[in-house]
Amino acid sequence: MDIKSKIESLRDDLRQHNYNYYILDNPTISDYEFDMKLKELQALEEAHPEFYDENSPTKRVGGTITKNFNTVVHDFRMYSLDNSYSKEDLMDWEKRIKKMIDGEVQYTCELKYDGASMNLTYENGKLVRAVTRGDGVQGDEVTANVKTINTVPLQLKGDYPERFDIRGEIVLPIEGFLKMNEERIANEEEPYRNPRNTASGSLKLQDSSEVAKRPLECLLYSIKGNNLNVSTQFEGLEKARAWGFKVPKEAKLVNSIDEVLDYVNYWEEHRHNLPYEIDGVVVKVNSLFQQDELGYTAKAPRWAMAYKFKAEQVSTRLNEITYQVGRTGAITPVANLEPVQLAGTIVKRASLHNADQIEKLDIREGDAVFVEKGGEIIPKIIAVDLTKRPEDSKPTVYITHCPECQTELVRPEGEAKHYCPNYNGCPPQIVGRIQHYISRKAMDIEGLGGETVALLVKESLISNYADLYELTVEQVIPLERMAEKSAENLVKGIEASRQIPFERVLFALGIRYVGETVAKKLAKHYKSIDALMFTSVLDLVTVDEIGERIAESVVEFFSSEENKTIIERLKTYGVQLEISAEKLANQTDKLKGQTFVVSGVFETISRNELKKLIEDNGGKVSSSISSKTSYVVAGDKMGPSKRTKAESLGISLLTEQEFLLLLK
Ligand code: AMP
Ligand code: ZN
Repeated sequence: MDIKSKIESLRDDLRQHNYNYYILDNPTISDYEFDMKLKELQALEEAHPEFYDENSPTKRVGGTITKNFNTVVHDFRMYSLDNSYSKEDLMDWEKRIKKMIDGEVQYTCELKYDGASMNLTYENGKLVRAVTRGDGVQGDEVTANVKTINTVPLQLKGDYPERFDIRGEIVLPIEGFLKMNEERIANEEEPYRNPRNTASGSLKLQDSSEVAKRPLECLLYSIKGNNLNVSTQFEGLEKARAWGFKVPKEAKLVNSIDEVLDYVNYWEEHRHNLPYEIDGVVVKVNSLFQQDELGYTAKAPRWAMAYKFKAEQVSTRLNEITYQVGRTGAITPVANLEPVQLAGTIVKRASLHNADQIEKLDIREGDAVFVEKGGEIIPKIIAVDLTKRPEDSKPTVYITHCPECQTELVRPEGEAKHYCPNYNGCPPQIVGRIQHYISRKAMDIEGLGGETVALLVKESLISNYADLYELTVEQVIPLERMAEKSAENLVKGIEASRQIPFERVLFALGIRYVGETVAKKLAKHYKSIDALMFTSVLDLVTVDEIGERIAESVVEFFSSEENKTIIERLKTYGVQLEISAEKLANQTDKLKGQTFVVSGVFETISRNELKKLIEDNGGKVSSSISSKTSYVVAGDKMGPSKRTKAESLGISLLTEQEFLLLLK
């Protein structure tokens, strides 16, 4: 087979597997096999840029940077929907319809997916454009980002029209949302509020490879175009499905408003069994001919109606406010509620966030409170029912001392949270830090779980993560629920963690604000813990994306004598405290002594990859052009002021290709 056919057959193959996996939910090869094929294709495409295809399955990983999203006028206006909240509303709607058209009316009932609306344009079976709803007349073009969403086909199958638009909703399924939040919490970032905002925020990220990491989906509900050869809404859904789109199977064709109501009632009750959130049901007159007769009001089609579910809220009693101490000493107030059924689960606790929040809502123990559950992990209190406030109620006085170790709390300037400053003596901080150290993304210690860590600390067998490496099987066996075998596994697991690469060790140390990404950056820049230990805030902030807050936290961590001792001990146990030789081997000094400024948008490589290449090869990346700049790597849409500056200083501009040649 020649190269071109080989590339094309791999692309077809990968498209089919992508479809099996994401649309049919029925993969026929392992993830590993898929990755191997994708890698093979990537390698071939790299070696043969002449066969470039912007819709190749390799483009799913993203990499394009969009600085400004272009405004695009929709070919067909994207209307809003009229809302109804009751059976009566729906009956009234039916009456209005019946006045305007003769004969029987069928309805397509669909779920109202709660996400961000999207219009996709296809030409000759290829995705050419993805545009947000915007104000309905025009929206923002977000094609590069949408391409990374696996349920958006880049190449259609079967008998599709030459050109058409298709509309849908970009959603973030709940499981993926919760996972993203787990990660954020582990990295001590504020969790996202709900899947909908996270989905629509994702569409406007500048770096499409960041979008690719988010488990977004695109659920389609309507095709638009001329000469589509489709006569009903339901048929349109079926066709779209056949062309390769994800069109949820819950859509149903019914013959009367009573049946519509059955559908509404069914989904109001069963909505929590769906993998994504819905906020109601959309009812559409099925016949496109009848739709035409009915037409539009200024804002919405007359032939469709949304039925909105009531926001899920309950009232319950706030029994007690307690305070949790996290691994960094951050205090979180928690509302302990009279258990109550809400959104498919029993709710017993709600987050109160911080002291300001409690004060703002004047939340008190004994209050009747309204609790709401969006996509948040724990529900939140949205208001107090003052009419039910007990007469002897007293305002909440926020704690001044740590509930675990009685140390006086501090509230750093500009922060919403209080902290317990007793870093080395506060039990939940000690336990939390070790639990973080052993966690999956950090040292991933097999055979040791969070509860055992708590037990080990309680029994005074360990009080920091370095102590782990001195644990013996004999010490561990007497612990509750420990058998000889599990004790051995525990010690083995700890030993094995000495192979974990430096960047993850750095994350595992639990330095405040040093999440996974920051740890990677620091590891790459400083290459060893010794270099990092002796650095300064001034030097740290020169590292890409390291701000003052992180820099200060790093310096503070290493200025503690206790931490220094722990690190020295980790060294003697053989924990990886520098970048391995193997990793270093991938790096060269081809660009040593040269400083690069990267500007604009690139074709075959993302900006971050480009910067990584520069750094891996010994060059420096700087953000502004000065007389010290050796080269400016200029992509598309490079800022004109940068260009002028480079020219006036006589600094050479390199195109993407020229830069890559430099490394060859
Ligand atoms: P609203 O924003 O309340 O005016 O509702 C209109 C929006 O509902 C549309 O812009 C769509 O993004 C969204 N929507 C979700 N599911 C559907 C569906 N099945 N059919 C039509 N619109 C839907
Ligand atoms: Zn404490």
